[in-house]
Amino acid sequence: MSEIQRNEQNVRRRVLLVEDEAINQKILSLIIQRKYDVICAGNGRQALDILAENHNTISLILLDLKMPEMDGFQVLEEIQKSHDLRRIPVIVMTSDEASEIRCIEEGAADFMPKPYDDPKLILARCNRAIVRAEDRILINESEHDQLTGLYNRLFFLQYAKQHDRYSRNDSMDAVVINVNRFRLINSLYGRSYGDRILKTVGGLIREYLDQQKNGIACRCESDTFYIYMPHSSSHEKFAGDLIEKFDRTIENSRISLRIGIYEYADQSIAVEQRFDMAKTACNKLRATYTSGYNLYDSMLHEKELYNEKLIMEMDRALAEKQFKVFYQPKYRITGDKPELVSAEALIRWIHPEFGIISPGIFISLFEANGLLQKLDQYVWNETAVQIRKWKDGFGRTIPVSVNVSRTDIYDLDLEKKLKSIVDSNGLATGELLLEITESAYTDNTRQIIETVNNLREMGFKVEMDDFGSGYSSLNMLSSLPIDALKLDMQFIRNITRSPKDYNLLLIMLQIAKFLNVPTVAEGVETREQYEMLKKAGCDIIQGYYFSKPVPPEDFEKLFDKEWDQ
Ligand code: C2E
Ligand code: MG
Ligand code: MG
Repeated sequence: MSEIQRNEQNVRRRVLLVEDEAINQKILSLIIQRKYDVICAGNGRQALDILAENHNTISLILLDLKMPEMDGFQVLEEIQKSHDLRRIPVIVMTSDEASEIRCIEEGAADFMPKPYDDPKLILARCNRAIVRAEDRILINESEHDQLTGLYNRLFFLQYAKQHDRYSRNDSMDAVVINVNRFRLINSLYGRSYGDRILKTVGGLIREYLDQQKNGIACRCESDTFYIYMPHSSSHEKFAGDLIEKFDRTIENSRISLRIGIYEYADQSIAVEQRFDMAKTACNKLRATYTSGYNLYDSMLHEKELYNEKLIMEMDRALAEKQFKVFYQPKYRITGDKPELVSAEALIRWIHPEFGIISPGIFISLFEANGLLQKLDQYVWNETAVQIRKWKDGFGRTIPVSVNVSRTDIYDLDLEKKLKSIVDSNGLATGELLLEITESAYTDNTRQIIETVNNLREMGFKVEMDDFGSGYSSLNMLSSLPIDALKLDMQFIRNITRSPKDYNLLLIMLQIAKFLNVPTVAEGVETREQYEMLKKAGCDIIQGYYFSKPVPPEDFEKLFDKEWDQ
Protein backbone atom coordinates (compact mmCIF):
# COMPACT_ATOMS: atom_id res chain seq x y z
CA MET A 1 0.00 0.00 0.00
CA SER A 2 1.44 3.37 -0.95
CA GLU A 3 2.02 6.27 1.45
CA ILE A 4 -0.80 8.25 -0.05
CA GLN A 5 -3.25 5.40 0.20
CA ARG A 6 -2.29 4.94 3.81
CA ASN A 7 -2.56 8.59 4.70
CA GLU A 8 -5.40 9.68 2.57
CA GLN A 9 -7.50 6.63 1.87
CA ASN A 10 -10.60 8.35 3.18
CA VAL A 11 -10.29 11.38 0.92
CA ARG A 12 -12.51 11.10 -2.17
CA ARG A 13 -10.57 11.83 -5.35
CA ARG A 14 -12.02 13.87 -8.21
CA VAL A 15 -12.25 12.49 -11.71
CA LEU A 16 -12.75 14.61 -14.81
CA LEU A 17 -14.92 12.81 -17.31
CA VAL A 18 -14.61 14.13 -20.86
CA GLU A 19 -17.34 12.66 -23.08
CA ASP A 20 -19.60 14.31 -25.66
CA GLU A 21 -22.38 11.75 -25.83
CA ALA A 22 -24.88 12.47 -23.06
CA ILE A 23 -25.92 8.85 -22.53
CA ASN A 24 -22.37 7.61 -22.15
CA GLN A 25 -21.59 10.49 -19.82
CA LYS A 26 -24.57 9.53 -17.68
CA ILE A 27 -23.76 5.80 -17.48
CA LEU A 28 -20.10 6.35 -16.65
CA SER A 29 -20.84 9.07 -14.11
CA LEU A 30 -23.08 6.75 -12.20
CA ILE A 31 -20.40 4.08 -12.08
CA ILE A 32 -17.56 6.42 -11.15
CA GLN A 33 -19.56 8.23 -8.49
CA ARG A 34 -19.63 5.08 -6.40
CA LYS A 35 -16.06 5.84 -5.48
CA TYR A 36 -15.10 9.28 -6.77
CA ASP A 37 -16.42 12.79 -7.22
CA VAL A 38 -17.02 13.49 -10.90
CA ILE A 39 -16.80 16.66 -13.00
CA CYS A 40 -18.02 16.38 -16.57
CA ALA A 41 -16.90 18.10 -19.76
CA GLY A 42 -18.66 17.79 -23.12
CA ASN A 43 -15.64 18.38 -25.33
CA GLY A 44 -11.88 19.00 -25.27
CA ARG A 45 -12.13 22.76 -25.00
CA GLN A 46 -14.37 22.56 -21.94
CA ALA A 47 -12.06 19.96 -20.42
CA LEU A 48 -9.02 22.26 -20.70
CA ASP A 49 -10.97 25.15 -19.18
CA ILE A 50 -11.94 23.03 -16.19
CA LEU A 51 -8.36 21.79 -15.84
CA ALA A 52 -6.98 25.31 -15.90
CA GLU A 53 -9.07 26.14 -12.82
CA ASN A 54 -9.02 22.83 -10.97
CA HIS A 55 -5.89 20.93 -11.89
CA ASN A 56 -4.72 20.79 -8.28
CA THR A 57 -7.78 18.84 -7.18
CA ILE A 58 -8.19 16.46 -10.09
CA SER A 59 -6.69 12.99 -9.73
CA LEU A 60 -7.68 11.36 -12.99
CA ILE A 61 -9.00 12.19 -16.47
CA LEU A 62 -11.25 9.84 -18.44
CA LEU A 63 -10.97 10.98 -22.02
CA ASP A 64 -13.08 10.22 -25.05
CA LEU A 65 -11.25 10.54 -28.37
CA LYS A 66 -13.88 11.57 -30.84
CA MET A 67 -15.47 14.84 -29.80
CA PRO A 68 -16.56 18.06 -31.49
CA GLU A 69 -14.55 21.30 -31.20
CA MET A 70 -11.42 19.70 -29.78
CA ASP A 71 -10.80 15.98 -29.88
CA GLY A 72 -9.07 13.74 -27.35
CA PHE A 73 -5.71 13.74 -29.14
CA GLN A 74 -5.49 17.51 -28.96
CA VAL A 75 -6.36 17.41 -25.26
CA LEU A 76 -3.62 14.83 -24.65
CA GLU A 77 -1.14 17.01 -26.48
CA GLU A 78 -2.01 20.07 -24.38
CA ILE A 79 -1.74 18.05 -21.17
CA GLN A 80 1.75 16.84 -22.09
CA LYS A 81 2.89 20.36 -22.78
CA SER A 82 1.88 21.64 -19.36
CA HIS A 83 4.08 21.10 -16.31
CA ASP A 84 1.01 21.29 -14.03
CA LEU A 85 -1.18 18.89 -15.97
CA ARG A 86 1.39 16.27 -16.88
CA ARG A 87 1.18 14.64 -13.46
CA ILE A 88 -2.55 13.78 -13.90
CA PRO A 89 -3.05 10.29 -15.37
CA VAL A 90 -5.32 9.97 -18.42
CA ILE A 91 -7.37 6.90 -19.31
CA VAL A 92 -8.47 7.00 -22.92
CA MET A 93 -11.87 5.56 -23.84
CA THR A 94 -11.81 4.09 -27.29
CA SER A 95 -13.04 1.21 -29.36
CA ASP A 96 -10.32 1.69 -31.93
CA GLU A 97 -7.15 -0.30 -31.32
CA ALA A 98 -5.17 1.68 -33.91
CA SER A 99 -5.59 4.84 -31.86
CA GLU A 100 -4.04 3.16 -28.83
CA ILE A 101 -0.48 3.37 -30.15
CA ARG A 102 -0.78 7.06 -30.79
CA CYS A 103 -2.31 7.56 -27.35
CA ILE A 104 0.58 5.77 -25.65
CA GLU A 105 2.97 8.03 -27.49
CA GLU A 106 1.01 11.04 -26.29
CA GLY A 107 1.33 9.90 -22.68
CA ALA A 108 -1.94 8.09 -21.90
CA ALA A 109 -1.80 5.90 -18.79
CA ASP A 110 -4.38 3.26 -19.79
CA PHE A 111 -7.35 2.43 -22.03
CA MET A 112 -10.93 1.63 -21.44
CA PRO A 113 -12.76 -0.21 -24.20
CA LYS A 114 -16.12 0.87 -25.50
CA PRO A 115 -18.73 -0.45 -24.91
CA TYR A 116 -17.92 -0.26 -21.24
CA ASP A 117 -16.72 -3.15 -19.14
CA ASP A 118 -18.13 -4.40 -15.96
CA PRO A 119 -18.38 -1.44 -13.47
CA LYS A 120 -16.05 -3.19 -11.02
CA LEU A 121 -13.38 -3.44 -13.70
CA ILE A 122 -13.80 0.24 -14.58
CA LEU A 123 -13.35 1.27 -10.95
CA ALA A 124 -10.34 -1.02 -10.61
CA ARG A 125 -8.70 0.58 -13.65
CA CYS A 126 -9.35 4.06 -12.26
CA ASN A 127 -7.93 3.10 -8.90
CA ARG A 128 -4.78 1.61 -10.39
CA ALA A 129 -4.09 4.69 -12.53
CA ILE A 130 -4.53 7.04 -9.55
CA VAL A 131 -2.33 5.00 -7.20
CA ARG A 132 0.44 4.72 -9.77
CA ALA A 133 0.44 8.43 -10.50
CA GLU A 134 0.43 9.34 -6.82
CA ASP A 135 3.27 6.96 -6.11
CA ARG A 136 5.24 8.54 -8.90
CA ILE A 137 4.71 11.98 -7.39
CA LEU A 138 5.90 10.73 -4.04
CA ILE A 139 9.05 9.28 -5.52
CA ASN A 140 9.59 12.44 -7.48
CA GLU A 141 9.29 14.56 -4.37
CA SER A 142 11.74 12.51 -2.41
CA GLU A 143 14.25 12.73 -5.24
CA HIS A 144 13.97 16.44 -5.74
CA ASP A 145 14.86 19.56 -3.88
CA GLN A 146 11.61 21.39 -3.12
CA LEU A 147 12.96 24.86 -3.71
CA THR A 148 14.61 24.46 -7.09
CA GLY A 149 13.06 21.29 -8.47
CA LEU A 150 16.54 19.89 -9.14
CA TYR A 151 17.57 16.53 -7.72
CA ASN A 152 18.72 16.39 -4.15
CA ARG A 153 22.28 15.33 -3.44
CA LEU A 154 21.56 11.70 -2.63
CA PHE A 155 19.64 10.89 -5.79
CA PHE A 156 21.91 13.02 -7.92
CA LEU A 157 24.92 10.97 -6.88
CA GLN A 158 23.02 7.76 -7.53
CA TYR A 159 22.01 8.86 -11.01
CA ALA A 160 25.54 10.00 -11.75
CA LYS A 161 26.84 6.57 -10.77
CA GLN A 162 24.15 4.95 -12.85
CA HIS A 163 25.21 7.06 -15.79
CA ASP A 164 28.81 5.92 -15.40
CA ARG A 165 27.76 2.29 -15.30
CA TYR A 166 25.98 2.50 -18.62
CA SER A 167 28.02 5.14 -20.45
CA ARG A 168 31.54 4.66 -19.22
CA ASN A 169 33.18 6.00 -22.31
CA ASP A 170 31.43 9.36 -22.48
CA SER A 171 33.59 12.31 -21.47
CA MET A 172 31.83 14.03 -18.64
CA ASP A 173 32.36 17.35 -16.87
CA ALA A 174 31.70 17.86 -13.16
CA VAL A 175 30.59 21.40 -12.44
CA VAL A 176 30.07 23.16 -9.12
CA ILE A 177 28.24 26.47 -8.88
CA ASN A 178 28.21 28.54 -5.76
CA VAL A 179 26.69 31.88 -4.79
CA ASN A 180 29.37 34.19 -3.43
CA ARG A 181 28.82 35.17 0.20
CA PHE A 182 25.33 33.64 0.27
CA ARG A 183 25.04 33.72 4.03
CA LEU A 184 25.62 37.45 3.99
CA ILE A 185 22.97 37.88 1.30
CA ASN A 186 20.49 35.97 3.43
CA SER A 187 21.11 38.13 6.44
CA LEU A 188 21.23 41.38 4.46
CA TYR A 189 18.23 40.89 2.20
CA GLY A 190 16.19 38.23 4.02
CA ARG A 191 15.54 34.57 3.45
CA SER A 192 12.94 34.88 0.75
CA TYR A 193 15.31 36.97 -1.35
CA GLY A 194 17.92 34.28 -0.78
CA ASP A 195 15.41 31.69 -1.95
CA ARG A 196 14.76 33.74 -5.06
CA ILE A 197 18.45 33.68 -5.89
CA LEU A 198 18.61 29.92 -5.47
CA LYS A 199 15.49 29.38 -7.58
CA THR A 200 16.97 31.56 -10.29
CA VAL A 201 20.19 29.56 -10.36
CA GLY A 202 18.20 26.29 -10.32
CA GLY A 203 15.96 27.50 -13.15
CA LEU A 204 18.91 28.55 -15.30
CA ILE A 205 20.62 25.21 -14.80
CA ARG A 206 17.44 23.36 -15.75
CA GLU A 207 16.97 25.53 -18.79
CA TYR A 208 20.51 24.78 -19.91
CA LEU A 209 20.18 21.03 -19.38
CA ASP A 210 16.82 21.01 -21.19
CA GLN A 211 18.51 22.59 -24.18
CA GLN A 212 21.37 20.11 -24.06
CA LYS A 213 18.91 17.25 -23.61
CA ASN A 214 21.56 15.59 -21.47
CA GLY A 215 23.06 15.94 -18.02
CA ILE A 216 21.72 16.07 -14.48
CA ALA A 217 21.90 18.60 -11.68
CA CYS A 218 21.19 18.95 -8.01
CA ARG A 219 21.21 21.48 -5.25
CA CYS A 220 23.76 19.91 -3.02
CA GLU A 221 23.83 22.10 0.03
CA SER A 222 22.30 25.46 0.72
CA ASP A 223 23.88 27.45 -2.09
CA THR A 224 25.96 24.81 -3.86
CA PHE A 225 24.82 23.24 -7.12
CA TYR A 226 26.32 20.26 -8.91
CA ILE A 227 25.98 19.52 -12.62
CA TYR A 228 27.15 16.32 -14.27
CA MET A 229 27.04 16.67 -18.02
CA PRO A 230 28.71 15.58 -21.23
CA HIS A 231 31.97 17.44 -21.85
CA SER A 232 31.49 20.85 -23.34
CA SER A 233 34.33 22.35 -25.29
CA SER A 234 33.04 25.85 -24.74
CA HIS A 235 33.02 26.32 -20.99
CA GLU A 236 33.36 29.99 -21.64
CA LYS A 237 30.03 30.08 -23.39
CA PHE A 238 28.27 27.90 -20.82
CA ALA A 239 29.58 29.89 -17.84
CA GLY A 240 29.27 33.24 -19.62
CA ASP A 241 25.65 32.63 -20.64
CA LEU A 242 24.65 31.40 -17.21
CA ILE A 243 26.25 34.36 -15.48
CA GLU A 244 24.80 36.85 -17.93
CA LYS A 245 21.28 35.48 -17.54
CA PHE A 246 21.69 35.40 -13.78
CA ASP A 247 22.80 39.04 -13.68
CA ARG A 248 19.92 40.04 -15.92
CA THR A 249 17.34 38.29 -13.73
CA ILE A 250 18.68 39.32 -10.36
CA GLU A 251 19.81 42.85 -11.26
CA ASN A 252 21.97 43.26 -8.19
CA SER A 253 25.63 43.75 -8.95
CA ARG A 254 26.63 42.71 -5.41
CA ILE A 255 25.44 39.18 -5.99
CA SER A 256 27.70 36.96 -8.02
CA LEU A 257 28.33 33.34 -8.87
CA ARG A 258 31.50 31.31 -8.94
CA ILE A 259 31.71 28.24 -11.14
CA GLY A 260 34.30 25.45 -10.89
CA ILE A 261 34.64 22.97 -13.74
CA TYR A 262 36.48 19.67 -13.64
CA GLU A 263 36.50 18.65 -17.28
CA TYR A 264 36.98 15.09 -18.51
CA ALA A 265 36.20 13.98 -14.96
CA ASP A 266 38.13 10.82 -14.16
CA GLN A 267 35.52 8.08 -13.91
CA SER A 268 37.83 5.74 -12.06
CA ILE A 269 37.57 7.84 -8.91
CA ALA A 270 34.43 8.25 -6.79
CA VAL A 271 31.82 10.69 -8.06
CA GLU A 272 31.95 12.60 -4.79
CA GLN A 273 35.67 13.09 -5.23
CA ARG A 274 35.21 14.39 -8.77
CA PHE A 275 32.93 17.07 -7.42
CA ASP A 276 35.44 17.86 -4.68
CA MET A 277 37.87 18.68 -7.43
CA ALA A 278 35.38 20.95 -9.18
CA LYS A 279 34.79 22.52 -5.78
CA THR A 280 38.51 23.14 -5.35
CA ALA A 281 38.51 24.98 -8.67
CA CYS A 282 35.39 26.87 -7.62
CA ASN A 283 36.82 27.90 -4.27
CA LYS A 284 39.88 29.39 -5.91
CA LEU A 285 37.51 32.21 -6.86
CA ARG A 286 36.24 32.65 -3.33
CA ALA A 287 37.95 35.95 -2.74
CA THR A 288 36.56 37.56 -5.87
CA TYR A 289 33.57 39.83 -5.84
CA THR A 290 32.52 39.31 -9.43
CA SER A 291 31.12 36.26 -11.17
CA GLY A 292 33.55 33.97 -12.90
CA TYR A 293 34.59 30.43 -13.61
CA ASN A 294 37.71 28.39 -13.12
CA LEU A 295 38.91 25.10 -14.56
CA TYR A 296 40.32 22.45 -12.27
CA ASP A 297 44.01 21.99 -12.83
CA SER A 298 45.26 18.52 -11.98
CA MET A 299 48.86 19.66 -11.72
CA LEU A 300 47.85 22.26 -9.19
CA HIS A 301 45.89 19.70 -7.26
CA GLU A 302 48.79 17.30 -7.13
CA LYS A 303 50.99 20.09 -5.88
CA GLU A 304 48.47 20.86 -3.17
CA LEU A 305 48.37 17.24 -2.10
CA TYR A 306 52.16 17.12 -2.08
CA ASN A 307 52.34 20.28 0.04
CA GLU A 308 49.76 18.91 2.42
CA LYS A 309 51.78 15.74 2.83
CA LEU A 310 54.93 17.70 3.62
CA ILE A 311 53.11 19.71 6.27
CA MET A 312 51.62 16.59 7.82
CA GLU A 313 54.94 14.80 7.94
CA MET A 314 57.06 17.66 9.23
CA ASP A 315 56.93 16.81 12.94
CA ARG A 316 57.80 13.19 12.43
CA ALA A 317 60.59 14.08 10.02
CA LEU A 318 62.11 16.39 12.62
CA ALA A 319 61.97 13.65 15.25
CA GLU A 320 63.53 11.17 12.85
CA LYS A 321 66.24 13.63 11.84
CA GLN A 322 65.30 13.59 8.18
CA PHE A 323 66.33 17.25 8.07
CA LYS A 324 70.06 17.72 7.47
CA VAL A 325 72.03 20.90 7.67
CA PHE A 326 74.36 21.52 4.73
CA TYR A 327 77.14 24.10 4.78
CA GLN A 328 78.25 26.46 2.05
CA PRO A 329 81.58 28.27 2.48
CA LYS A 330 82.05 32.02 2.27
CA TYR A 331 85.43 33.34 1.08
CA ARG A 332 87.01 36.72 1.73
CA ILE A 333 88.42 37.99 -1.57
CA THR A 334 90.07 41.23 -0.51
CA GLY A 335 93.52 39.67 -0.08
CA ASP A 336 95.89 38.03 -2.58
CA LYS A 337 94.01 34.79 -2.56
CA PRO A 338 90.54 33.79 -1.39
CA GLU A 339 90.36 32.90 2.27
CA LEU A 340 87.68 30.69 3.88
CA VAL A 341 86.12 32.84 6.60
CA SER A 342 82.73 31.43 7.39
CA ALA A 343 79.84 29.38 6.10
CA GLU A 344 76.07 29.46 5.74
CA ALA A 345 73.89 26.71 7.20
CA LEU A 346 71.24 25.62 4.67
CA ILE A 347 68.65 23.04 5.48
CA ARG A 348 67.81 20.00 3.28
CA TRP A 349 65.03 17.49 3.79
CA ILE A 350 66.26 14.00 2.99
CA HIS A 351 62.80 12.58 2.42
CA PRO A 352 62.42 8.77 2.45
CA GLU A 353 60.02 8.88 -0.51
CA PHE A 354 60.85 12.06 -2.46
CA GLY A 355 64.63 12.23 -2.00
CA ILE A 356 66.34 15.54 -1.28
CA ILE A 357 63.83 18.38 -1.05
CA SER A 358 65.22 21.89 -1.24
CA PRO A 359 64.16 24.57 1.24
CA GLY A 360 62.78 26.66 -1.63
CA ILE A 361 59.86 24.21 -1.57
CA PHE A 362 59.07 23.82 2.10
CA ILE A 363 60.22 27.02 3.80
CA SER A 364 57.36 29.17 2.51
CA LEU A 365 54.90 26.32 3.21
CA PHE A 366 56.02 26.02 6.80
CA GLU A 367 56.07 29.76 7.18
CA ALA A 368 52.40 29.96 6.26
CA ASN A 369 51.57 27.22 8.73
CA GLY A 370 53.58 28.45 11.69
CA LEU A 371 55.92 25.46 11.58
CA LEU A 372 58.99 27.32 10.48
CA GLN A 373 60.04 28.48 13.92
CA LYS A 374 60.41 24.91 15.08
CA LEU A 375 62.51 24.03 12.07
CA ASP A 376 64.70 27.11 12.45
CA GLN A 377 65.45 26.28 16.05
CA TYR A 378 66.42 22.80 15.00
CA VAL A 379 68.83 24.25 12.44
CA TRP A 380 70.29 26.72 14.92
CA ASN A 381 70.89 23.93 17.39
CA GLU A 382 72.45 21.55 14.89
CA THR A 383 74.65 24.37 13.60
CA ALA A 384 75.85 25.36 17.06
CA VAL A 385 76.69 21.74 17.81
CA GLN A 386 78.63 21.56 14.54
CA ILE A 387 80.59 24.77 15.18
CA ARG A 388 81.53 23.33 18.57
CA LYS A 389 82.71 20.05 16.97
CA TRP A 390 84.87 21.84 14.42
CA LYS A 391 86.25 24.12 17.07
CA ASP A 392 87.25 21.11 19.13
CA GLY A 393 88.54 19.10 16.18
CA PHE A 394 90.46 21.78 14.30
CA GLY A 395 91.35 24.16 17.08
CA ARG A 396 89.69 27.17 15.57
CA THR A 397 86.27 28.65 15.01
CA ILE A 398 84.59 28.72 11.69
CA PRO A 399 81.64 31.07 12.26
CA VAL A 400 78.50 29.87 10.55
CA SER A 401 75.47 31.96 9.68
CA VAL A 402 71.96 30.65 10.15
CA ASN A 403 68.81 32.04 8.57
CA VAL A 404 66.40 33.80 10.90
CA SER A 405 63.03 34.00 9.23
CA ARG A 406 60.44 36.69 9.40
CA THR A 407 58.22 34.76 11.81
CA ASP A 408 61.10 34.32 14.27
CA ILE A 409 61.25 38.09 14.71
CA TYR A 410 57.77 38.02 16.26
CA ASP A 411 58.89 35.51 18.86
CA LEU A 412 59.29 37.45 22.11
CA ASP A 413 61.75 34.84 23.36
CA LEU A 414 63.99 34.95 20.28
CA GLU A 415 66.96 36.54 22.03
CA LYS A 416 66.68 34.14 24.97
CA LYS A 417 66.49 31.08 22.72
CA LEU A 418 69.51 32.04 20.65
CA LYS A 419 71.53 32.86 23.73
CA SER A 420 70.70 29.55 25.35
CA ILE A 421 71.78 27.69 22.19
CA VAL A 422 75.22 29.32 22.08
CA ASP A 423 75.63 29.02 25.85
CA SER A 424 74.80 25.35 25.99
CA ASN A 425 77.46 24.67 23.37
CA GLY A 426 80.03 26.84 25.08
CA LEU A 427 80.19 29.28 22.17
CA ALA A 428 80.45 33.04 22.11
CA THR A 429 77.53 34.92 20.54
CA GLY A 430 79.85 36.18 17.79
CA GLU A 431 80.47 32.65 16.57
CA LEU A 432 76.91 32.06 15.38
CA LEU A 433 76.10 34.58 12.64
CA LEU A 434 72.51 35.52 11.87
CA GLU A 435 71.00 36.27 8.44
CA ILE A 436 67.74 38.15 8.26
CA THR A 437 66.13 38.70 4.89
CA GLU A 438 65.62 42.28 3.74
CA SER A 439 61.87 41.90 3.38
CA ALA A 440 61.57 41.25 7.12
CA TYR A 441 62.94 44.72 7.70
CA THR A 442 60.31 46.36 5.58
CA ASP A 443 57.51 44.27 7.14
CA ASN A 444 57.77 45.57 10.63
CA THR A 445 60.54 48.09 10.84
CA ARG A 446 60.19 49.17 14.47
CA GLN A 447 60.00 45.70 15.91
CA ILE A 448 62.92 44.41 13.90
CA ILE A 449 65.20 47.32 14.69
CA GLU A 450 64.54 46.73 18.36
CA THR A 451 65.16 42.98 18.11
CA VAL A 452 68.32 43.38 16.04
CA ASN A 453 69.62 46.04 18.43
CA ASN A 454 69.13 43.66 21.34
CA LEU A 455 70.85 40.81 19.52
CA ARG A 456 73.81 42.96 18.59
CA GLU A 457 74.15 44.22 22.12
CA MET A 458 74.38 40.57 23.16
CA GLY A 459 77.26 40.18 20.72
CA PHE A 460 75.51 38.49 17.76
CA LYS A 461 76.47 39.59 14.26
CA VAL A 462 73.54 40.21 11.95
CA GLU A 463 73.72 40.15 8.15
CA MET A 464 70.98 41.51 5.94
CA ASP A 465 70.13 38.71 3.49
CA ASP A 466 68.84 39.07 -0.08
CA PHE A 467 69.65 42.77 -0.13
CA GLY A 468 68.14 44.45 -3.17
CA SER A 469 65.11 42.19 -3.36
CA GLY A 470 63.11 44.20 -0.83
CA TYR A 471 62.14 47.82 -0.72
CA SER A 472 64.42 49.40 1.83
CA SER A 473 64.72 53.13 1.49
CA LEU A 474 68.09 54.78 1.83
CA ASN A 475 66.70 56.62 4.79
CA MET A 476 65.73 53.42 6.56
CA LEU A 477 69.01 51.73 5.66
CA SER A 478 71.03 54.44 7.33
CA SER A 479 69.28 53.80 10.63
CA LEU A 480 69.51 50.02 10.42
CA PRO A 481 71.73 48.18 12.84
CA ILE A 482 73.54 45.58 10.69
CA ASP A 483 76.97 44.01 10.37
CA ALA A 484 77.00 42.98 6.70
CA LEU A 485 74.95 43.24 3.51
CA LYS A 486 74.38 40.06 1.48
CA LEU A 487 73.58 41.05 -2.07
CA ASP A 488 70.69 39.17 -3.60
CA MET A 489 71.89 36.73 -6.22
CA GLN A 490 69.70 38.16 -8.95
CA PHE A 491 72.11 41.12 -9.11
CA ILE A 492 75.11 38.88 -9.51
CA ARG A 493 73.63 36.63 -12.20
CA ASN A 494 74.05 39.03 -15.11
CA ILE A 495 76.87 41.35 -14.09
CA THR A 496 79.20 40.01 -16.76
CA ARG A 497 76.66 40.44 -19.53
CA SER A 498 74.59 43.45 -18.59
CA PRO A 499 76.25 46.83 -17.97
CA LYS A 500 73.04 47.94 -16.25
CA ASP A 501 73.31 45.13 -13.71
CA TYR A 502 76.99 45.85 -13.20
CA ASN A 503 76.18 49.50 -12.49
CA LEU A 504 73.49 48.43 -10.00
CA LEU A 505 76.08 46.30 -8.26
CA LEU A 506 78.40 49.29 -8.01
CA ILE A 507 75.61 51.36 -6.46
CA MET A 508 74.94 48.67 -3.87
CA LEU A 509 78.59 48.44 -3.01
CA GLN A 510 78.57 52.21 -2.51
CA ILE A 511 75.59 51.91 -0.19
CA ALA A 512 77.50 49.33 1.86
CA LYS A 513 80.49 51.63 1.99
CA PHE A 514 78.24 54.46 3.11
CA LEU A 515 76.79 52.22 5.85
CA ASN A 516 80.32 51.15 6.67
CA VAL A 517 79.57 47.42 6.46
CA PRO A 518 81.22 44.64 4.44
CA THR A 519 79.41 43.05 1.48
CA VAL A 520 78.78 39.41 0.76
CA ALA A 521 77.85 38.37 -2.79
CA GLU A 522 75.98 35.09 -3.08
CA GLY A 523 75.24 32.96 -6.11
CA VAL A 524 78.69 33.45 -7.62
CA GLU A 525 79.10 30.70 -10.18
CA THR A 526 81.87 31.67 -12.58
CA ARG A 527 85.42 32.92 -12.59
CA GLU A 528 84.36 36.04 -14.53
CA GLN A 529 81.80 36.94 -11.91
CA TYR A 530 84.34 36.37 -9.17
CA GLU A 531 86.92 38.60 -10.86
CA MET A 532 84.45 41.32 -11.56
CA LEU A 533 83.26 41.34 -7.95
CA LYS A 534 86.81 41.44 -6.73
CA LYS A 535 87.58 44.39 -8.98
CA ALA A 536 84.43 46.19 -7.87
CA GLY A 537 85.51 45.91 -4.24
CA CYS A 538 83.16 43.21 -2.89
CA ASP A 539 84.48 41.71 0.38
CA ILE A 540 83.17 38.18 0.64
CA ILE A 541 81.69 35.75 -1.87
CA GLN A 542 79.60 32.60 -1.59
CA GLY A 543 78.53 30.42 -4.49
CA TYR A 544 78.97 27.34 -6.62
CA TYR A 545 82.23 28.81 -7.95
CA PHE A 546 83.79 27.75 -4.68
CA SER A 547 81.41 25.09 -3.49
CA LYS A 548 77.79 24.06 -3.38
CA PRO A 549 76.22 23.63 0.07
CA VAL A 550 77.62 20.28 1.28
CA PRO A 551 77.20 17.93 4.26
CA PRO A 552 79.54 18.62 7.21
CA GLU A 553 81.90 15.72 6.35
CA ASP A 554 82.52 17.21 2.90
CA PHE A 555 82.86 20.68 4.30
CA GLU A 556 85.75 19.49 6.44
CA LYS A 557 87.73 18.69 3.30
CA LEU A 558 87.67 22.42 2.54
CA PHE A 559 89.39 23.08 5.87
CA ASP A 560 92.07 20.59 5.01
CA LYS A 561 92.67 22.28 1.66
CA GLU A 562 92.72 25.69 3.26
CA TRP A 563 94.84 25.02 6.28
CA ASP A 564 97.29 22.53 4.79
CA GLN A 565 98.66 25.15 2.43
P1 C2E B 1 69.38 32.18 1.06
O1 C2E B 1 69.51 32.32 2.53
O2 C2E B 1 69.50 33.42 0.26
O3 C2E B 1 70.43 31.10 0.64
C1 C2E B 1 71.15 31.09 -0.54
C2 C2E B 1 70.60 30.14 -1.54
O4 C2E B 1 71.36 30.24 -2.72
C3 C2E B 1 70.70 28.68 -1.13
O5 C2E B 1 69.58 28.02 -1.68
C4 C2E B 1 71.95 28.22 -1.84
O6 C2E B 1 71.99 26.83 -2.06
C5 C2E B 1 71.82 28.97 -3.14
N1 C2E B 1 73.09 29.16 -3.81
C6 C2E B 1 74.30 29.32 -3.27
N2 C2E B 1 75.22 29.49 -4.22
C7 C2E B 1 74.60 29.45 -5.41
C8 C2E B 1 75.03 29.59 -6.77
O7 C2E B 1 76.18 29.77 -7.08
N3 C2E B 1 74.08 29.50 -7.73
C9 C2E B 1 72.77 29.30 -7.42
N4 C2E B 1 71.90 29.24 -8.42
N5 C2E B 1 72.33 29.17 -6.14
C10 C2E B 1 73.24 29.25 -5.15
P2 C2E B 1 68.80 26.98 -0.85
O8 C2E B 1 69.69 26.20 0.02
O9 C2E B 1 67.91 26.27 -1.81
O10 C2E B 1 67.94 27.89 0.08
C11 C2E B 1 66.98 28.75 -0.42
C12 C2E B 1 66.49 29.67 0.64
O11 C2E B 1 65.79 28.95 1.65
C13 C2E B 1 67.58 30.39 1.38
O12 C2E B 1 67.99 31.51 0.68
C14 C2E B 1 66.90 30.74 2.67
O13 C2E B 1 66.14 31.92 2.51
C15 C2E B 1 65.99 29.60 2.86
N6 C2E B 1 66.56 28.67 3.86
C16 C2E B 1 67.46 27.69 3.71
N7 C2E B 1 67.69 27.07 4.88
C17 C2E B 1 66.93 27.71 5.80
C18 C2E B 1 66.71 27.56 7.22
O14 C2E B 1 67.29 26.71 7.89
N8 C2E B 1 65.82 28.43 7.82
C19 C2E B 1 65.18 29.39 7.09
N9 C2E B 1 64.34 30.19 7.72
N10 C2E B 1 65.37 29.54 5.79
C20 C2E B 1 66.23 28.73 5.15
MG1 MG C 1 70.68 33.12 3.77
MG1 MG D 1 70.29 35.05 0.33
